[in-house]
Amino acid sequence: MPILSTKNISKRFDGVHAVNSLSISFEAGKITSIVGPNGSGKSTLINTLTGIHPIDSGEMIILDSTHLSKIRAHQIPFYGMTRTFQDVKLFEQMLVLDNVLVVLTERSIWKSLFEKHNAFHLEKAEEVLKKVGLWEKRNELAKNLSYGQRKLLEIARILAMVHSGVGDIEIIFFDEPFAGLFPEMIKVVVSVLKELRTQGKAVILVEHNMDLIRELSDHLYVLDSGELLAEGKPNEVLEKRDVIEAYLGE
Ligand code: ADP
Ligand code: MG
Repeated sequence: MPILSTKNISKRFDGVHAVNSLSISFEAGKITSIVGPNGSGKSTLINTLTGIHPIDSGEMIILDSTHLSKIRAHQIPFYGMTRTFQDVKLFEQMLVLDNVLVVLTERSIWKSLFEKHNAFHLEKAEEVLKKVGLWEKRNELAKNLSYGQRKLLEIARILAMVHSGVGDIEIIFFDEPFAGLFPEMIKVVVSVLKELRTQGKAVILVEHNMDLIRELSDHLYVLDSGELLAEGKPNEVLEKRDVIEAYLGE
């Protein structure tokens, strides 16, 4: 049973069909990837599913039972979802450590700044920051991190959310998490995605690097001009002539 699916969802911007009557689904314990040329609607799809943009028409279905035509960004943790952004979003003026603690505590900036953190919060923060290799940077301001480190911090925040039991995160969207990363950072993110899959999470990955897509994806959707061009096992889908043409024609 899919944990999340869409039925004919569409999103237009000034006449551009960014997402055009798309019906796809995502399963728990699987990495489902979305590829397609630039402008094919990958980010818009994630943005509609996470409440950044309202859907013009169609619906999203959670656990085969909850039908929604509208979801708001602040509601997504309630529906078990979280995400990264193609252009990383952090609390820039806060320390790296506080960027994680704010997730682990009550998700209120004030609490995480002024509350005395208990050992559990600090232990978890240390665990996730070590996992992404940022523990040494814990006392830097987020804005002073390199581009790759910023992306890793965003991932550490997701791990904190998943591991803390704050909320009950089951569906995680990653919008180009590997873009701009050094090879050793890529390895870290690959292992994070595989670990989340092993834990039974539905992982949704938007990515351009086809080697990573082949390595990670259980199921692949190819978008072109907001429409579904192909779907299936990555090795089979990436052999298809129309898929290859969509890329070469970019
Ligand atoms: P991708 O992530 O696959 O590169 P996007 O979803 O970002 O593609 O974009 C799909 C189409 O929607 C493009 O034509 C893009 O210009 C348009 N688009 C995306 N977001 C907006 C927006 N906020 N306002 C206007 N047009 C947008
Ligand atoms: Mg995009």
